[in-house]
Amino acid sequence: MSQSLTHTKRDTASPFFQLRLPVGTVWPAVPIPEMSQVWAAYQELDRTQWLSPEELELGQLQQVRLLVQHCAEHVPYYCRVLSEAGVLSRPLESLSDFRQLPFLTRELYQRHAAELHATQLPAGMKEVSSDYTSGTSGVPIMVRKTNRDGLWWNAFYLRDLEWSGIDPRGRLAAIRLLAKSPEQLQRLLLGSSSKVWGQLGQYLIENGPAFGMDIRQDPRLQLEWIERIQPNYLLSMPSNLDFLAGLLRESGRRIPELKAIQAIGESLPLDVRQRIETAFGVPVKNLYSTTEAGYMASPCPLGDGLHVHAENVLTEVLDANDRPCQPGQTGRLVITSLTNFVNPFLRYEMLDEVTLGLGSCPCGRGLPLWQHVEGRRHPLFFLPDGRRHSSMGVNIGVRKIGGCHQFQILQREVDHFIVRIVPDKTWTPDHAEQIRSVIHREFESPVRVDVETHNFLERPAGGKLKLVVVELEKR
Ligand SMILES: [Zn+2]
Repeated sequence: MSQSLTHTKRDTASPFFQLRLPVGTVWPAVPIPEMSQVWAAYQELDRTQWLSPEELELGQLQQVRLLVQHCAEHVPYYCRVLSEAGVLSRPLESLSDFRQLPFLTRELYQRHAAELHATQLPAGMKEVSSDYTSGTSGVPIMVRKTNRDGLWWNAFYLRDLEWSGIDPRGRLAAIRLLAKSPEQLQRLLLGSSSKVWGQLGQYLIENGPAFGMDIRQDPRLQLEWIERIQPNYLLSMPSNLDFLAGLLRESGRRIPELKAIQAIGESLPLDVRQRIETAFGVPVKNLYSTTEAGYMASPCPLGDGLHVHAENVLTEVLDANDRPCQPGQTGRLVITSLTNFVNPFLRYEMLDEVTLGLGSCPCGRGLPLWQHVEGRRHPLFFLPDGRRHSSMGVNIGVRKIGGCHQFQILQREVDHFIVRIVPDKTWTPDHAEQIRSVIHREFESPVRVDVETHNFLERPAGGKLKLVVVELEKR
Protein backbone atom coordinates (compact mmCIF):
# COMPACT_ATOMS: atom_id res chain seq x y z
CA MET A 1 0.00 0.00 0.00
CA SER A 2 2.67 2.52 0.97
CA GLN A 3 4.50 1.77 -2.27
CA SER A 4 1.62 3.09 -4.40
CA LEU A 5 1.52 6.30 -2.35
CA THR A 6 5.12 7.29 -3.07
CA HIS A 7 4.20 9.11 -6.28
CA THR A 8 1.77 11.96 -6.65
CA LYS A 9 -0.69 12.04 -9.52
CA ARG A 10 1.21 14.84 -11.28
CA ASP A 11 4.27 12.70 -11.23
CA THR A 12 3.03 10.54 -14.05
CA ALA A 13 6.26 10.33 -16.00
CA SER A 14 8.48 9.10 -13.20
CA PRO A 15 6.91 6.15 -11.44
CA PHE A 16 10.10 4.45 -12.47
CA PHE A 17 11.84 5.18 -9.18
CA GLN A 18 10.57 4.48 -5.73
CA LEU A 19 11.51 7.34 -3.44
CA ARG A 20 13.13 6.86 -0.08
CA LEU A 21 11.02 8.96 2.24
CA PRO A 22 12.01 10.73 5.43
CA VAL A 23 11.05 9.01 8.67
CA GLY A 24 7.48 10.03 9.52
CA THR A 25 6.39 10.58 5.91
CA VAL A 26 4.33 8.39 3.66
CA TRP A 27 2.41 10.98 1.71
CA PRO A 28 2.78 13.38 -0.03
CA ALA A 29 6.07 11.97 -1.23
CA VAL A 30 9.06 14.29 -0.98
CA PRO A 31 12.62 13.15 -0.30
CA ILE A 32 14.85 14.29 2.57
CA PRO A 33 15.90 17.99 2.29
CA GLU A 34 19.47 17.18 1.13
CA MET A 35 18.08 15.29 -1.87
CA SER A 36 15.18 17.58 -2.74
CA GLN A 37 17.16 19.67 -5.18
CA VAL A 38 18.28 16.63 -7.18
CA TRP A 39 14.71 15.36 -7.28
CA ALA A 40 13.42 18.77 -8.39
CA ALA A 41 16.09 18.95 -11.11
CA TYR A 42 15.19 15.46 -12.36
CA GLN A 43 11.48 16.35 -12.44
CA GLU A 44 12.25 19.52 -14.40
CA LEU A 45 14.21 17.41 -16.91
CA ASP A 46 11.17 15.20 -17.12
CA ARG A 47 9.30 18.26 -18.40
CA THR A 48 11.98 19.86 -20.60
CA GLN A 49 12.62 16.68 -22.63
CA TRP A 50 9.22 17.24 -24.29
CA LEU A 51 9.92 20.86 -25.32
CA SER A 52 10.19 21.54 -29.04
CA PRO A 53 13.68 21.98 -30.56
CA GLU A 54 12.97 25.74 -30.83
CA GLU A 55 11.99 25.99 -27.16
CA LEU A 56 15.08 24.05 -26.14
CA GLU A 57 17.32 26.31 -28.23
CA LEU A 58 15.78 29.36 -26.61
CA GLY A 59 16.54 27.94 -23.17
CA GLN A 60 20.09 27.15 -24.24
CA LEU A 61 20.54 30.68 -25.65
CA GLN A 62 19.45 32.24 -22.35
CA GLN A 63 21.89 30.07 -20.40
CA VAL A 64 24.71 30.69 -22.90
CA ARG A 65 24.25 34.46 -22.58
CA LEU A 66 24.68 34.19 -18.84
CA LEU A 67 27.71 31.97 -19.24
CA VAL A 68 29.40 34.24 -21.80
CA GLN A 69 28.79 37.27 -19.59
CA HIS A 70 30.35 35.41 -16.65
CA CYS A 71 33.35 34.37 -18.78
CA ALA A 72 33.90 37.91 -19.98
CA GLU A 73 33.97 39.20 -16.42
CA HIS A 74 35.63 36.45 -14.39
CA VAL A 75 37.63 34.12 -16.65
CA PRO A 76 40.89 35.81 -17.74
CA TYR A 77 41.34 33.71 -20.89
CA TYR A 78 37.86 34.55 -22.11
CA CYS A 79 38.09 38.24 -21.12
CA ARG A 80 40.79 38.45 -23.77
CA VAL A 81 39.47 36.02 -26.39
CA LEU A 82 35.88 37.28 -26.32
CA SER A 83 36.92 40.88 -26.68
CA GLU A 84 39.32 40.01 -29.54
CA ALA A 85 36.50 38.12 -31.29
CA GLY A 86 34.27 41.19 -30.99
CA VAL A 87 31.60 39.12 -29.25
CA LEU A 88 31.18 41.55 -26.41
CA SER A 89 30.37 44.58 -28.56
CA ARG A 90 26.71 43.52 -28.87
CA PRO A 91 24.39 41.12 -27.06
CA LEU A 92 24.09 37.54 -28.32
CA GLU A 93 20.89 37.57 -30.39
CA SER A 94 20.99 33.93 -31.38
CA LEU A 95 23.02 30.76 -31.15
CA SER A 96 24.44 31.67 -34.57
CA ASP A 97 26.03 34.72 -32.93
CA PHE A 98 27.51 32.44 -30.29
CA ARG A 99 28.88 30.18 -33.02
CA GLN A 100 31.15 33.01 -34.15
CA LEU A 101 33.31 32.36 -31.09
CA PRO A 102 36.68 30.70 -31.74
CA PHE A 103 37.02 27.01 -30.86
CA LEU A 104 38.73 25.90 -27.68
CA THR A 105 41.06 23.04 -28.54
CA ARG A 106 42.59 20.64 -26.03
CA GLU A 107 45.99 22.24 -26.73
CA LEU A 108 44.64 25.73 -25.96
CA TYR A 109 42.99 24.42 -22.81
CA GLN A 110 46.27 22.94 -21.63
CA ARG A 111 48.31 25.99 -22.53
CA HIS A 112 45.94 28.43 -20.81
CA ALA A 113 44.76 26.18 -17.94
CA ALA A 114 45.52 28.74 -15.22
CA GLU A 115 43.70 31.50 -17.10
CA LEU A 116 40.65 29.29 -17.65
CA HIS A 117 39.96 29.11 -13.93
CA ALA A 118 37.18 31.57 -12.96
CA THR A 119 38.30 34.13 -10.40
CA GLN A 120 34.76 34.43 -9.04
CA LEU A 121 31.58 32.35 -9.12
CA PRO A 122 27.88 33.27 -9.05
CA ALA A 123 26.34 33.29 -5.58
CA GLY A 124 25.52 29.80 -4.32
CA MET A 125 28.04 28.11 -6.60
CA LYS A 126 31.29 26.79 -5.17
CA GLU A 127 34.19 24.76 -6.45
CA VAL A 128 34.01 21.31 -4.89
CA SER A 129 36.12 18.90 -6.92
CA SER A 130 38.40 18.28 -9.85
CA ASP A 131 38.83 15.36 -12.18
CA TYR A 132 41.20 14.31 -14.95
CA THR A 133 40.20 13.15 -18.43
CA SER A 134 41.42 9.69 -19.39
CA GLY A 135 43.96 11.10 -21.83
CA THR A 136 43.05 8.71 -24.64
CA SER A 137 43.72 11.44 -27.16
CA GLY A 138 46.85 12.86 -25.58
CA VAL A 139 47.80 14.31 -22.23
CA PRO A 140 45.00 14.22 -19.61
CA ILE A 141 43.48 17.57 -18.69
CA MET A 142 42.21 18.62 -15.28
CA VAL A 143 38.61 19.81 -15.05
CA ARG A 144 37.27 21.67 -12.01
CA LYS A 145 33.66 21.21 -10.96
CA THR A 146 31.19 23.05 -8.77
CA ASN A 147 28.32 21.90 -6.57
CA ARG A 148 26.02 22.80 -9.51
CA ASP A 149 27.78 20.31 -11.80
CA GLY A 150 27.30 17.67 -9.12
CA LEU A 151 23.60 18.44 -8.90
CA TRP A 152 23.09 18.06 -12.65
CA TRP A 153 25.26 14.94 -12.80
CA ASN A 154 22.86 13.28 -10.36
CA ALA A 155 19.73 14.51 -12.15
CA PHE A 156 20.96 13.22 -15.54
CA TYR A 157 22.03 9.96 -13.90
CA LEU A 158 18.37 9.42 -12.96
CA ARG A 159 17.17 10.36 -16.44
CA ASP A 160 19.67 7.99 -18.04
CA LEU A 161 18.62 5.09 -15.79
CA GLU A 162 14.97 5.70 -16.58
CA TRP A 163 15.53 5.97 -20.35
CA SER A 164 17.69 2.83 -20.31
CA GLY A 165 15.04 0.92 -18.35
CA ILE A 166 17.61 0.13 -15.65
CA ASP A 167 15.61 -0.37 -12.46
CA PRO A 168 17.93 0.38 -9.55
CA ARG A 169 16.07 -2.09 -7.34
CA GLY A 170 17.92 -4.83 -9.23
CA ARG A 171 21.42 -6.22 -8.76
CA LEU A 172 24.20 -4.28 -10.49
CA ALA A 173 27.64 -5.54 -11.45
CA ALA A 174 30.03 -2.79 -12.55
CA ILE A 175 33.40 -3.64 -14.08
CA ARG A 176 35.26 -0.41 -14.56
CA LEU A 177 38.32 1.53 -13.50
CA LEU A 178 37.84 1.63 -9.74
CA ALA A 179 41.20 1.47 -7.96
CA LYS A 180 43.20 4.64 -7.41
CA SER A 181 46.28 3.02 -5.81
CA PRO A 182 48.16 -0.31 -6.17
CA GLU A 183 46.88 -1.42 -2.73
CA GLN A 184 43.29 -0.68 -3.74
CA LEU A 185 43.85 -2.46 -7.02
CA GLN A 186 44.85 -5.72 -5.31
CA ARG A 187 41.60 -5.61 -3.36
CA LEU A 188 39.33 -4.47 -6.20
CA LEU A 189 40.64 -7.06 -8.64
CA LEU A 190 38.85 -9.53 -6.39
CA GLY A 191 35.58 -7.56 -6.45
CA SER A 192 33.68 -5.60 -3.82
CA SER A 193 30.07 -5.28 -2.79
CA SER A 194 27.75 -2.62 -1.42
CA LYS A 195 24.16 -2.64 -0.20
CA VAL A 196 23.31 0.33 -2.44
CA TRP A 197 24.21 1.62 -5.91
CA GLY A 198 25.63 4.90 -4.66
CA GLN A 199 24.81 8.09 -2.78
CA LEU A 200 21.43 8.47 -4.47
CA GLY A 201 20.59 4.87 -3.62
CA GLN A 202 21.35 5.54 0.00
CA TYR A 203 19.27 8.69 0.37
CA LEU A 204 16.90 9.22 -2.57
CA ILE A 205 15.70 6.09 -4.31
CA GLU A 206 15.14 2.51 -3.29
CA ASN A 207 17.67 0.17 -4.83
CA GLY A 208 19.34 -3.17 -4.67
CA PRO A 209 22.91 -4.33 -4.08
CA ALA A 210 25.84 -3.26 -6.24
CA PHE A 211 29.02 -5.19 -6.98
CA GLY A 212 32.22 -3.71 -8.38
CA MET A 213 35.39 -5.11 -9.90
CA ASP A 214 38.37 -3.31 -11.37
CA ILE A 215 38.46 -3.67 -15.16
CA ARG A 216 42.14 -4.61 -15.12
CA GLN A 217 41.19 -8.11 -13.94
CA ASP A 218 41.54 -11.00 -16.42
CA PRO A 219 38.15 -11.20 -18.24
CA ARG A 220 38.01 -14.96 -17.61
CA LEU A 221 37.98 -14.27 -13.86
CA GLN A 222 35.53 -11.40 -14.42
CA LEU A 223 33.12 -13.85 -16.01
CA GLU A 224 33.40 -16.29 -13.10
CA TRP A 225 32.66 -13.39 -10.75
CA ILE A 226 29.62 -12.34 -12.83
CA GLU A 227 28.32 -15.90 -12.73
CA ARG A 228 28.61 -15.98 -8.95
CA ILE A 229 26.79 -12.65 -8.57
CA GLN A 230 24.05 -13.25 -11.17
CA PRO A 231 23.40 -9.54 -11.77
CA ASN A 232 20.34 -8.00 -13.44
CA TYR A 233 22.48 -5.26 -14.94
CA LEU A 234 26.09 -5.24 -16.10
CA LEU A 235 28.08 -2.07 -16.66
CA SER A 236 31.48 -1.95 -18.37
CA MET A 237 33.52 -0.66 -21.32
CA PRO A 238 32.76 -1.97 -24.84
CA SER A 239 36.22 -3.52 -25.39
CA ASN A 240 35.83 -5.47 -22.15
CA LEU A 241 32.21 -6.46 -22.84
CA ASP A 242 33.26 -7.69 -26.28
CA PHE A 243 35.87 -9.95 -24.70
CA LEU A 244 33.31 -11.30 -22.21
CA ALA A 245 30.86 -11.85 -25.08
CA GLY A 246 33.50 -13.92 -26.87
CA LEU A 247 34.01 -16.08 -23.76
CA LEU A 248 30.26 -16.63 -23.46
CA ARG A 249 30.04 -17.59 -27.13
CA GLU A 250 32.85 -20.09 -26.73
CA SER A 251 31.35 -21.72 -23.67
CA GLY A 252 27.68 -21.46 -24.67
CA ARG A 253 26.91 -20.19 -21.16
CA ARG A 254 24.30 -17.55 -20.22
CA ILE A 255 23.71 -15.05 -17.42
CA PRO A 256 20.04 -15.93 -16.86
CA GLU A 257 19.03 -13.03 -14.59
CA LEU A 258 20.59 -10.35 -16.80
CA LYS A 259 18.18 -7.74 -18.23
CA ALA A 260 20.40 -5.06 -19.78
CA ILE A 261 24.01 -3.99 -20.24
CA GLN A 262 25.28 -0.45 -19.96
CA ALA A 263 28.34 0.38 -22.06
CA ILE A 264 30.45 3.34 -20.95
CA GLY A 265 33.76 5.06 -21.58
CA GLU A 266 34.60 4.00 -25.13
CA SER A 267 32.84 4.20 -28.46
CA LEU A 268 30.64 1.26 -29.38
CA PRO A 269 30.94 0.24 -33.05
CA LEU A 270 27.79 -1.35 -34.47
CA ASP A 271 29.38 -4.80 -34.99
CA VAL A 272 30.72 -4.84 -31.43
CA ARG A 273 27.29 -3.92 -30.11
CA GLN A 274 25.68 -6.74 -32.07
CA ARG A 275 28.22 -9.28 -30.83
CA ILE A 276 27.63 -8.28 -27.20
CA GLU A 277 23.83 -8.31 -27.56
CA THR A 278 23.82 -11.70 -29.26
CA ALA A 279 26.14 -13.36 -26.75
CA PHE A 280 24.43 -11.96 -23.64
CA GLY A 281 20.92 -12.00 -25.13
CA VAL A 282 20.06 -8.55 -23.70
CA PRO A 283 20.07 -4.98 -25.07
CA VAL A 284 23.18 -2.80 -24.75
CA LYS A 285 22.53 0.78 -23.61
CA ASN A 286 25.43 3.06 -24.41
CA LEU A 287 25.87 6.10 -22.26
CA TYR A 288 27.99 8.95 -23.64
CA SER A 289 29.45 11.06 -20.87
CA THR A 290 32.69 13.00 -20.56
CA THR A 291 34.81 14.42 -17.77
CA GLU A 292 34.59 17.80 -19.46
CA ALA A 293 30.79 18.10 -19.53
CA GLY A 294 29.18 15.19 -17.67
CA TYR A 295 26.19 13.48 -19.27
CA MET A 296 26.14 14.24 -23.01
CA ALA A 297 23.76 11.72 -24.61
CA SER A 298 21.79 8.61 -23.67
CA PRO A 299 19.85 6.04 -25.68
CA CYS A 300 16.25 6.97 -26.52
CA PRO A 301 13.85 4.68 -24.64
CA LEU A 302 11.85 4.09 -27.84
CA GLY A 303 13.88 4.98 -30.90
CA ASP A 304 17.20 3.72 -32.15
CA GLY A 305 19.58 6.58 -31.50
CA LEU A 306 20.87 8.72 -28.67
CA HIS A 307 19.28 11.93 -27.40
CA VAL A 308 21.56 14.79 -26.44
CA HIS A 309 21.04 16.11 -22.90
CA ALA A 310 20.48 19.59 -24.31
CA GLU A 311 19.80 21.08 -20.88
CA ASN A 312 23.37 20.17 -19.92
CA VAL A 313 25.38 20.71 -23.06
CA LEU A 314 25.10 22.69 -26.26
CA THR A 315 26.43 20.50 -29.06
CA GLU A 316 27.51 21.27 -32.61
CA VAL A 317 28.38 18.65 -35.23
CA LEU A 318 30.55 20.24 -37.91
CA ASP A 319 31.92 19.20 -41.29
CA ALA A 320 35.51 19.66 -42.49
CA ASN A 321 34.73 23.31 -43.33
CA ASP A 322 33.24 24.00 -39.88
CA ARG A 323 29.70 24.13 -41.30
CA PRO A 324 26.88 22.43 -39.37
CA CYS A 325 26.27 18.88 -40.63
CA GLN A 326 22.90 17.90 -42.10
CA PRO A 327 20.73 15.06 -40.76
CA GLY A 328 22.44 11.71 -41.40
CA GLN A 329 25.90 13.25 -41.89
CA THR A 330 28.95 12.55 -39.74
CA GLY A 331 31.08 15.33 -38.36
CA ARG A 332 33.28 16.34 -35.46
CA LEU A 333 31.72 17.24 -32.15
CA VAL A 334 32.09 20.67 -30.55
CA ILE A 335 30.53 21.21 -27.12
CA THR A 336 29.67 23.97 -24.68
CA SER A 337 28.98 22.94 -21.11
CA LEU A 338 25.99 24.95 -19.89
CA THR A 339 26.64 24.33 -16.21
CA ASN A 340 30.39 24.60 -15.63
CA PHE A 341 31.15 28.16 -14.55
CA VAL A 342 34.47 27.42 -12.84
CA ASN A 343 36.25 25.84 -15.85
CA PRO A 344 34.06 26.99 -18.73
CA PHE A 345 34.20 25.10 -22.01
CA LEU A 346 32.91 27.32 -24.81
CA ARG A 347 32.93 25.59 -28.20
CA TYR A 348 35.36 22.93 -27.02
CA GLU A 349 36.52 20.44 -29.63
CA MET A 350 35.91 16.89 -28.46
CA LEU A 351 37.97 14.38 -30.40
CA ASP A 352 34.84 12.37 -31.16
CA GLU A 353 32.74 12.11 -34.28
CA VAL A 354 28.98 12.04 -34.34
CA THR A 355 26.48 10.87 -36.95
CA LEU A 356 23.31 12.93 -36.75
CA GLY A 357 19.89 11.32 -36.68
CA LEU A 358 17.54 11.46 -39.63
CA GLY A 359 14.78 13.91 -38.77
CA SER A 360 12.85 13.80 -35.53
CA CYS A 361 12.54 10.84 -33.19
CA PRO A 362 9.36 8.73 -33.05
CA CYS A 363 9.32 9.15 -29.26
CA GLY A 364 8.36 12.83 -29.63
CA ARG A 365 11.21 14.28 -27.58
CA GLY A 366 12.58 17.59 -28.86
CA LEU A 367 16.12 16.82 -27.76
CA PRO A 368 18.66 16.51 -30.60
CA LEU A 369 18.98 13.00 -32.01
CA TRP A 370 22.22 11.23 -32.93
CA GLN A 371 22.58 7.88 -34.66
CA HIS A 372 25.84 7.18 -32.92
CA VAL A 373 29.11 8.54 -31.60
CA GLU A 374 31.99 7.31 -33.72
CA GLY A 375 34.61 7.70 -31.05
CA ARG A 376 38.19 8.79 -31.43
CA ARG A 377 39.46 9.43 -34.89
CA HIS A 378 41.83 6.82 -36.24
CA PRO A 379 45.45 7.80 -35.51
CA LEU A 380 47.88 8.21 -38.38
CA PHE A 381 50.79 5.84 -39.02
CA PHE A 382 54.16 7.14 -40.20
CA LEU A 383 55.46 6.13 -43.62
CA PRO A 384 59.25 5.88 -44.23
CA ASP A 385 59.25 9.00 -46.41
CA GLY A 386 57.69 11.07 -43.61
CA ARG A 387 54.12 11.00 -44.90
CA ARG A 388 51.27 9.97 -42.61
CA HIS A 389 48.79 7.23 -43.38
CA SER A 390 45.41 6.51 -41.77
CA SER A 391 45.33 3.42 -39.57
CA MET A 392 41.69 2.76 -40.41
CA GLY A 393 42.40 0.18 -43.13
CA VAL A 394 44.69 -1.90 -40.92
CA ASN A 395 42.29 -1.63 -38.00
CA ILE A 396 39.29 -2.84 -40.01
CA GLY A 397 41.40 -5.46 -41.81
CA VAL A 398 42.65 -7.05 -38.57
CA ARG A 399 39.17 -6.92 -37.06
CA LYS A 400 37.74 -8.78 -40.05
CA ILE A 401 40.30 -11.58 -39.78
CA GLY A 402 38.96 -12.49 -36.34
CA GLY A 403 40.25 -15.46 -34.37
CA CYS A 404 40.76 -13.31 -31.30
CA HIS A 405 39.02 -11.81 -28.30
CA GLN A 406 41.04 -8.61 -28.49
CA PHE A 407 43.81 -7.03 -30.49
CA GLN A 408 46.03 -4.00 -30.43
CA ILE A 409 48.26 -2.65 -33.20
CA LEU A 410 51.42 -0.73 -32.30
CA GLN A 411 53.72 1.10 -34.67
CA ARG A 412 57.02 1.01 -32.81
CA GLU A 413 59.29 2.21 -35.64
CA VAL A 414 58.58 3.40 -39.15
CA ASP A 415 59.23 -0.16 -40.37
CA HIS A 416 58.25 -2.15 -37.28
CA PHE A 417 54.78 -3.15 -36.13
CA ILE A 418 53.66 -5.23 -33.20
CA VAL A 419 50.20 -6.77 -33.20
CA ARG A 420 49.09 -8.02 -29.80
CA ILE A 421 46.44 -10.69 -29.91
CA VAL A 422 44.32 -12.40 -27.29
CA PRO A 423 43.47 -15.56 -29.26
CA ASP A 424 40.13 -17.29 -29.03
CA LYS A 425 39.56 -21.00 -29.72
CA THR A 426 39.45 -20.51 -33.49
CA TRP A 427 42.94 -18.95 -33.65
CA THR A 428 45.47 -20.64 -35.97
CA PRO A 429 48.94 -19.63 -37.28
CA ASP A 430 47.17 -18.75 -40.52
CA HIS A 431 45.42 -15.85 -38.73
CA ALA A 432 48.85 -14.38 -37.90
CA GLU A 433 49.87 -14.70 -41.54
CA GLN A 434 46.70 -12.90 -42.64
CA ILE A 435 47.40 -10.07 -40.19
CA ARG A 436 50.93 -9.70 -41.61
CA SER A 437 49.60 -9.49 -45.13
CA VAL A 438 47.02 -6.85 -44.19
CA ILE A 439 49.79 -4.61 -42.89
CA HIS A 440 52.16 -5.41 -45.78
CA ARG A 441 49.42 -4.50 -48.26
CA GLU A 442 48.88 -1.10 -46.59
CA PHE A 443 52.57 -0.17 -46.75
CA GLU A 444 54.40 0.06 -50.03
CA SER A 445 57.85 -0.45 -48.45
CA PRO A 446 58.91 -3.52 -46.40
CA VAL A 447 57.85 -3.54 -42.76
CA ARG A 448 58.43 -6.08 -40.02
CA VAL A 449 55.27 -7.33 -38.29
CA ASP A 450 55.56 -9.26 -35.02
CA VAL A 451 52.37 -10.96 -33.91
CA GLU A 452 52.37 -11.60 -30.17
CA THR A 453 49.77 -13.60 -28.28
CA HIS A 454 48.69 -12.56 -24.80
CA ASN A 455 46.34 -13.86 -22.14
CA PHE A 456 44.72 -10.42 -21.97
CA LEU A 457 45.80 -6.87 -22.76
CA GLU A 458 46.90 -4.53 -20.00
CA ARG A 459 44.86 -1.35 -19.78
CA PRO A 460 46.64 2.00 -19.40
CA ALA A 461 46.07 4.32 -16.43
CA GLY A 462 42.90 5.83 -17.92
CA GLY A 463 41.35 2.38 -18.40
CA LYS A 464 40.50 2.80 -22.08
CA LEU A 465 42.04 0.30 -24.44
CA LYS A 466 43.45 1.88 -27.60
CA LEU A 467 43.23 -0.37 -30.64
CA VAL A 468 45.99 1.49 -32.46
CA VAL A 469 49.01 3.06 -30.78
CA VAL A 470 51.56 5.05 -32.78
CA GLU A 471 54.50 5.00 -30.39
CA LEU A 472 56.61 7.18 -32.69
CA GLU A 473 54.27 10.07 -31.91
CA LYS A 474 55.44 10.29 -28.32
CA ARG A 475 59.08 10.91 -29.24
ZN1 LIG B 1 13.55 9.48 -29.00
